Amino acid sequence: MKYEEKFLIQFFIIFLTLFYTKLEHIEEETLLEEYLICRQCGSDITLTNFLIEKLSPVALSVVNQTIYENKRVLIQEVQNPLGIKFKIILLKQAHCAKFDTWSTIFSWFPGYAWKLCICPKCTGHLGWMFEPIETATKDQNFPSEKGFYALIYNNILLESYVNSLLMKESIFREN
Ligand SMILES: [Zn+2]
Repeated sequence: MKYEEKFLIQFFIIFLTLFYTKLEHIEEETLLEEYLICRQCGSDITLTNFLIEKLSPVALSVVNQTIYENKRVLIQEVQNPLGIKFKIILLKQAHCAKFDTWSTIFSWFPGYAWKLCICPKCTGHLGWMFEPIETATKDQNFPSEKGFYALIYNNILLESYVNSLLMKESIFREN
């Protein structure tokens, strides 16, 4: 084999190795866990990849629950000024419809302004969006990198849970 041919083959092997390493890396980065969907209409709202843990100093109670395989989630109970209690989970990302301006009145997270998170499809109340007060401007429609989402645990469902119910349903129908 000529020197040039050898060189070309070696170059090609190196190229392929690099290409596949890169591919693997991309797959690792975008590994999707589990969809959380709107309980009312079934729209995809977020992924369990985005769950975060941040305690509200005014939380009435906090539990750490396993919701999906080994995925633990911090569920905290908070209360609004009307005395209505909500169990919430926090996430870095979620799909909410555009909503009004930020409010700083009675925030469960000191230093953060909030606005409602409404389902973009059925307009059901899913929770709240939070953004640091200093960056909660009129132009900031959704939480920035420094903000987060608090979703009402009872208003969302794990997609795999819904699928398992549908599967059971079809088994019953077949029998
Ligand atoms: Zn919905």
